[in-house]
Amino acid sequence: MADFETPALKPWPEIPPIEIGVMAHSKPFVAKTDIQEKIGFPGELVDNWQQVAIDKMGELVENSRALRVFLDSCVKCGACTDKCHYFLGTTDPNNMPVARQDLFRSVYRRYFTLAGKYFPGLVGARDLDKDVLDEWYSYFHQCSQCRRCSVYCPYGIDTAEISMAAREILDTVGVGQKYCNEIIGKAQTIGNNLGLPEPALADTLEGLEEDIEDDTGVSVRLPLDEKGADILLVTPSADFFAEPHVDGLIGYAKVFHQAGLSWTISSYASEAANFGMFIGSYENMQVLAQRIREAALELGVKRIVFGECGHAWRVAYNFLNTLAGPFDFLDPKYPVPQHVCEVTYDLLQRNALRMDKSANDDMVLTFHDSCNVARASRMGDFEGGQFVIPREVIKASCNHFYDMPSHAVQEGTFCCGGGGGLLTDDLVELRVKGALPRMEALKQVVDDHGVTHMAAICAICKSQFSKVLPYYGFEMDQIVSVHQLVSNAIQLGGEH
Ligand code: SF4
Ligand code: SF4
Repeated sequence: MADFETPALKPWPEIPPIEIGVMAHSKPFVAKTDIQEKIGFPGELVDNWQQVAIDKMGELVENSRALRVFLDSCVKCGACTDKCHYFLGTTDPNNMPVARQDLFRSVYRRYFTLAGKYFPGLVGARDLDKDVLDEWYSYFHQCSQCRRCSVYCPYGIDTAEISMAAREILDTVGVGQKYCNEIIGKAQTIGNNLGLPEPALADTLEGLEEDIEDDTGVSVRLPLDEKGADILLVTPSADFFAEPHVDGLIGYAKVFHQAGLSWTISSYASEAANFGMFIGSYENMQVLAQRIREAALELGVKRIVFGECGHAWRVAYNFLNTLAGPFDFLDPKYPVPQHVCEVTYDLLQRNALRMDKSANDDMVLTFHDSCNVARASRMGDFEGGQFVIPREVIKASCNHFYDMPSHAVQEGTFCCGGGGGLLTDDLVELRVKGALPRMEALKQVVDDHGVTHMAAICAICKSQFSKVLPYYGFEMDQIVSVHQLVSNAIQLGGEH
């Protein structure tokens, strides 16, 4: 356990007394030169960094009307101040969404508004100096880009967009974050975040096939690079080895098997996660999106299905078609992209899966809505599908399910505390403290309904909870994959 105090769980979220600057020390490791240059950014802080940063800010507000509106329209009503999990968990006022925005807005005003140019003191405008840059590096890496604040802002101001813009400027002047940028580099050259080459991936999938057969007596395939398969499954690489992720992957395989769907994973595009979004870089997002397109063409598939990963789904749902489309070579009967929960839900609706819910009777379940799915994308062809579909899949797989309190689910869900490119051990204090509101909501259903496990459909959430649950007195294996529940309940054998 690290050297900080875990916040105490309270029965209901309380607005904490503020402690100015208490998280100013929290900064992720800075990317080294080779990591930066590999993905097209300067290796270190450039000499004329101030001008480069201001030029980049100008380009960003010019190209994004949304960003400019967000910067111009805040009326300081305060409705967002207590909505960020990082503020509630850390008590640092710079983690209030409006204050975080103002770190950026004050510089924007200084260089891009008349009042800020001539009367900076009157409008809260400030020069971009090294202290401000350092403050940005700290506090824009204390935002998981979860959009919860935007739900409560009467103007819909989205701090996530501002945070992405700030990180893009930081990268452009040569001060990138090690964790994200190293991963982006690996995914672009090897095809996945782990740097797992094709032979290792093939071995892993073979091992999983053996495990399933040992467990069920049924031969279920996890095909790799199989030309002519109908479905390309693009899933977070954590699904290949991490717990509880891998149990979810086994669940997808069993669903495809029982439904008689032909599918494959690609070793070239073996990563659904797209960390380019976290650093606000469309260029980097596009490189990975293009790999998926190329793999789909090369393998001749008809559908692209994404596994359980929150931000991957956000990128895929919002941007896959614009970054790498058109996908007119795929079967038009299916949406592009499609979520694995949509596939399973559809099969359940058609009674195409044999489920025995009692297989999960040793668990009482709740569901953590991942912020990227809840507030930045949708599922299915009906409003609120992203809330209904995963819950229906869970309810078809178990007998005991209870939702957490209403302020902490669906649109109001709290981030796990590790999203937005913050799932790194150099930020463990932030991650633990940022998980406080979710842990409080979980504790409530544990106390009220005897909940034993929380299911999620996001690789980052699963890893984050495995790490932080013990800090709050829970067990690390109380987090499970949604398709792990499906995997337990599905009755294999006798398929044709
Ligand atoms: S986007 Fe999420 S993490 Fe960022 S300020 Fe808003 S609530 Fe906090
Ligand atoms: S809720 Fe919106 S308008 Fe009000 S202070 Fe926050 S960002 Fe500004």
